[in-house]
Amino acid sequence: MSYAAGAMTYEHETWMRLAIEEAELARGGTGDNPWVGCAIVSPQGELVGRGHTLGPGEDHAEMAAARDAQARRQSVVGATLYSTLEPCSFHGRTAACSRSIAERGIARVVIGMRDPHPRVDGEGIAILQGAGVEVREGVCEAAVRRQLGSWVLDQHPHELLRHAASLPERDRSAALADAYGVERARVDAVLRASHGPDARR
Ligand SMILES: [Zn+2]
Repeated sequence: MSYAAGAMTYEHETWMRLAIEEAELARGGTGDNPWVGCAIVSPQGELVGRGHTLGPGEDHAEMAAARDAQARRQSVVGATLYSTLEPCSFHGRTAACSRSIAERGIARVVIGMRDPHPRVDGEGIAILQGAGVEVREGVCEAAVRRQLGSWVLDQHPHELLRHAASLPERDRSAALADAYGVERARVDAVLRASHGPDARR
């Protein structure tokens, strides 16, 4: 890696850690939505907005951060948005964040982890790229997976099973408990359920 690329990676990780801190403020208050955090950074490298997921049907983290920037009278045009989770791609209880991000003129989105929701799972990234927004994913991914592990197990256990399939059987549940930051018993329950009679969904 070149010096410049190394410095850029360091910068991305620094801002992503702020987004992770921001996400922690949302834990417990998001219903069945994931607790996500966001930071928006100007082309000059200054923080212009930050936010986290609000209650069900209210702003997702990306929009909360954009609103924060607006309240501070800061432009987000050409900015980089850091989000712990991939921006959503479909119009559910709120408008799709990936479309709204592109419409606001944000130039680049840096993502911790892909959203395992079957209706997103890369679709948010595709929308952003299709609109000319540069996307980089996998920044601080291990930390984000640990932060959101409990939500993944509750809402999208298939993500854990997909991950499990890539691991050797020996020590599998211990490795998964560590990767998702949850008790081993919870991992074992998901693994067991996947072998049960009504496992195929
Ligand atoms: Zn969203």
